[in-house]
Amino acid sequence: MAVETIDLRSDTVTQPTEEMRRAMAEAAVGDDVFGEDPTVNRLEAEAARRLGKEAGLFVASGTMGNLVAVLSHCGRGDEIILGNTSHTFMYEAGGVAALGGVHPHPLPVLEDGTIPLEAIRAAIRAENIHYPPTRLIALENAQGSMTGTPVPKAYMDAVGELAHAHGLALHVDGARIFNAATALDCDVADLVAAADSVTFCLSKGLCAPVGSVLVGSQEFIARARRMRKIVGGGMRQVGVLAAAGLVALGKMSTRLAEDHRNARRLAEGLAQIPDFAIDPQRVRTNIVYVTLGGNARMGARAIAGALTERGVRVLAMDDQHIRAVTHYWIRSEHIERALQAFHEVLP
Ligand SMILES: *Cc1c(COP(=O)(O)O)cnc(C)c1O
Repeated sequence: MAVETIDLRSDTVTQPTEEMRRAMAEAAVGDDVFGEDPTVNRLEAEAARRLGKEAGLFVASGTMGNLVAVLSHCGRGDEIILGNTSHTFMYEAGGVAALGGVHPHPLPVLEDGTIPLEAIRAAIRAENIHYPPTRLIALENAQGSMTGTPVPKAYMDAVGELAHAHGLALHVDGARIFNAATALDCDVADLVAAADSVTFCLSKGLCAPVGSVLVGSQEFIARARRMRKIVGGGMRQVGVLAAAGLVALGKMSTRLAEDHRNARRLAEGLAQIPDFAIDPQRVRTNIVYVTLGGNARMGARAIAGALTERGVRVLAMDDQHIRAVTHYWIRSEHIERALQAFHEVLP
């Protein structure tokens, strides 16, 4: 009999729930490029309402959402200020430069997920023919690279104020914005109130099989709809996917505290292993990063390999760092079993 795998590599591994599969089978659909898919229209309206914006756009992935947002805010030769460990700078294949001709201006992200306001202010270009014009500031919330740290509303508001004072727009990569809002115990619309546009993923902790939504003003989303077409993201009877997204947005967005408790428990257990350096207090959402100390008995890749043999999967980021992410399909007993496997590998 196959042993059930405890897959902690990412919250992207989440399978759709039974309710999602039923909703997908029964979804009313139409041609969404003609604006005629009622289920997509419902998802876009509901996403906009939840995030406090005028309109929404269903896209194939978070990467597509961020790319379409940047293409809609910026022209060729414009500059975007963003974090040097942000997903858009690190993990989106350089799409903003490759496809948009947009010049990235990366700034160091602190452990608390913020970029100091003074650093952003100093990075905004003065009018000068030598400089690419700054057009956009992009923040990430929760900040994935910093153990999924939620970034508080006061900071988001301050960056929004700075952006708008300089005639710039603020985009928020909110792939895990519901995790951030849950951890901060604040309303998600309040958290992104200062943003001109936001993307969030339906396919991570929210369990939908595919999709993200980009939200913003009516006028912005009309432009984004054209940009989505340019990148080949105009999909047809895509209500079958939006149906799962509606369940994700409605039901799954309110249960994330459980994933956060499991992540904290995992971090506390891992902190007992002498090879690891980890501060469980920093784990506030569903991402756990473990740093291997100088005295570690094995490298991260060897540990991940040995765990796989015991039915537990984690991600070796390099040979010094391991990532584990909790999600809907991980229950507290899985955390205990995963910790037991870690202890077997590093007795
Ligand atoms: C996952 C993620 C994305 C988008 O990822 P896709 O795999 O393209 O959906 C964007 N930003 C952040 C912070 C993410 O974690």
